[in-house]
Amino acid sequence: MRYLRVKYALLGEELYLAEDVEIVLEEGKVIDIYETSKPTSNVLVMPSLVNAHIHTADYSLLELWPERSLEEIVDPSKGLKIRALEQEDELERYIWEVIKISYKRGTFALADFREQGEKGLEIGLRGSKGFPGYLPFARPPGNIWRAHGLGLPEISYPRALEYARKFKEMGKPVAVHFAENKEEDLDGLLKLEPDFVVHANFVPKESLEELTRRGIAIAKCLRANTWFGLPNNLEEIMEVGTRLLLGTDNAGWTEPEMWRELEYAFLSLRDRDEEMARELLKAVTVNAEDPLKLPWRVPLERDSNWPLLLLNSKPLRYGSSPYIALVKGRLPIKGIIVP
Ligand SMILES: [Zn+2]
Repeated sequence: MRYLRVKYALLGEELYLAEDVEIVLEEGKVIDIYETSKPTSNVLVMPSLVNAHIHTADYSLLELWPERSLEEIVDPSKGLKIRALEQEDELERYIWEVIKISYKRGTFALADFREQGEKGLEIGLRGSKGFPGYLPFARPPGNIWRAHGLGLPEISYPRALEYARKFKEMGKPVAVHFAENKEEDLDGLLKLEPDFVVHANFVPKESLEELTRRGIAIAKCLRANTWFGLPNNLEEIMEVGTRLLLGTDNAGWTEPEMWRELEYAFLSLRDRDEEMARELLKAVTVNAEDPLKLPWRVPLERDSNWPLLLLNSKPLRYGSSPYIALVKGRLPIKGIIVP
């Protein structure tokens, strides 16, 4: 049995802020949490972070083509990116580099949307060296059934429906890029029965409400969208109440750094308050468990087995909001611990 005595903890599905807490860990999970009068360390503990949308192999394409448009770069069949990835021999090394950077900065799980079909999945699996937080979302063609999930580049991608059905049958998550730079067909999307969509920048309010009713989450990648001059509808998505996730998207252009994503998201809101900060922190932790079908219990509570993130809470002053300090990225990271 191990005991963590900390000044602050963000507990449960709502990241409820508790003070002076003792957490008891045993055999890979949390077995108890309670208030304590014993001395606590200057630590804030919370669930480690989830990057719900990233293309790790783009780390081989750092800062290329800043003047080019989204279509020229990411078109799944003839874009600059897919051609460059085909010619790069060291993708595994870059993928591992992104995993290491992410982990050091408090992100345990990455939904890595691998290009190149079956070959791309194999590269991802080798590059990640069995790291448990690496979740490859592969695309057709080929034998991609070992992937954690299906990650389609677009709703009309060849064999999308066939692969989506098969992944659903296997109980694995289905995700698809949707309405990134133009409005797209909602019915075509719904046929795929996705667990979450990526971007959803051009989605009318009624369609956002439909996604919400069906429990389909949206992974926003706001810095990546800004890079390509695309609009930011975060405020509307939060108003409608669609389950929100955050991702850093193309690692070559926007650093795989969830704290920057959080701060950017927070600053992009017109009405900023502590509640909004807490909602954003949920988007990078507890909100991910269902749509990504994570094989862990993420909220920090009894029976949780998700890795915990420890941050130095010393920079918090009397009256300062820990939620806002976190989304500003102001608390130094001490590290991730596995229960
Ligand atoms: Zn993407």
